Amino acid sequence: MSEADKLGAGAAAAAKVILPGATVGILGGGQLGRMIANAGSALGYRFIALDPTPDAPCGQVAEQIIAGYDDREAARELADRADVITYEFENVDAGVAAMLMEQSYVPQGSELLYTTQHRLREKRAIEAAGVRVAPYSEVASKDELRAAVAKFGVPCVLKTATGGYDGKGQWVIRSESEIDEAFDTLDRAQTQLVLEKFIRFDKELSVIAARSPQGEIRTFPAAENIHVDNILHLSIVPARVEDRIQREAERLAARIAEGLGVVGLIAVELFLTADGELFVNELAPRPHNSGHYTMEACRTSQFEQHVRAVCGLPLGDTSLLTPVVMVNVLGEHMEPLLERMAAVDETAERLGVAPKVHLYGKHEAKHKRKMGHVNVLAADVDAALAWIAETNIWRV
Ligand code: AMP
Repeated sequence: MSEADKLGAGAAAAAKVILPGATVGILGGGQLGRMIANAGSALGYRFIALDPTPDAPCGQVAEQIIAGYDDREAARELADRADVITYEFENVDAGVAAMLMEQSYVPQGSELLYTTQHRLREKRAIEAAGVRVAPYSEVASKDELRAAVAKFGVPCVLKTATGGYDGKGQWVIRSESEIDEAFDTLDRAQTQLVLEKFIRFDKELSVIAARSPQGEIRTFPAAENIHVDNILHLSIVPARVEDRIQREAERLAARIAEGLGVVGLIAVELFLTADGELFVNELAPRPHNSGHYTMEACRTSQFEQHVRAVCGLPLGDTSLLTPVVMVNVLGEHMEPLLERMAAVDETAERLGVAPKVHLYGKHEAKHKRKMGHVNVLAADVDAALAWIAETNIWRV
């Protein structure tokens, strides 16, 4: 029994099992919903998504109710038509979440959403689970910010407690002269602010853990993540870190899944320092971009695992089948990628790699918009990285 399995033992027993044939409702119809529906359809489930965009990525592979996320009438229809409800983003409207909890079966609950929607609540919950986050202080005024900057030194990172993603809602304070401007700018978001010590990390890692309502926990192998302009560019697996660090990262993720009573998936983003310390940066209570590599590289993908967890099935084996590098396809990468797909890929043949393309069916290839990803399967990650460099699709 692994460390993670032991942690999950003995948890609540009265969980509902939703068998294939049933309909899963998804709040949100983006690429994560699409990949949940594709994986779950293979198991025999049906899917219906609620999303305001007609012909949304998930709506192309499942049924779709076209309405706003805060439309209670539409949420009620979703509840009526589905046997179990899940979500593909964390900023679910609190009123809709409460209504769905009442009208339907939402095994993930609303507590985890409440926690992860707010950086301060999230950090406190992680600490309560016995896991370290970067030192931080809540700051409610310029004076408090000045005091916190004096405590942590520069650089340090000011973040909004809610609404930030892909680097939005944060400011790296590099000198004390920036304090006023940083505070005034982020304070416009009208949410609490938190100052974090700047972690001089060697690497960014992430681990996705799954927990079922029965308390079973499994973790996927840690990914080494490389961001460009605050957007995930590469996930490299196995991460190029000592085995000890990989095990520790998985152990921390399992601990968070247990401590926070997660049902479904929790993605745990971590900083690894040069002296081997791990700090949690943030959590996402859903499938995560840094887990897309699991689609071909693991025995069970994160999407199948998510469906298994919310439906109360036993969790799947998360073993890694092959080294892999996941590279994101943004709007600007679409043209060269499609061109390459139309011809025999001699570079891939020469390097002995298998690039598996996943596109999300988004209509407009806007600059920086996530359009898809490629899982480059290879005998070692260097060969996969060589393919990415040689294709010239990602000229960064
Ligand atoms: P976040 O929105 O919190 O995921 O932050 C986006 C990116 O900013 C992270 O992936 C890091 O590269 C960087 N970052 C965030 N917080 C810190 C920190 N406390 N120290 C150093 N870098 C950070």
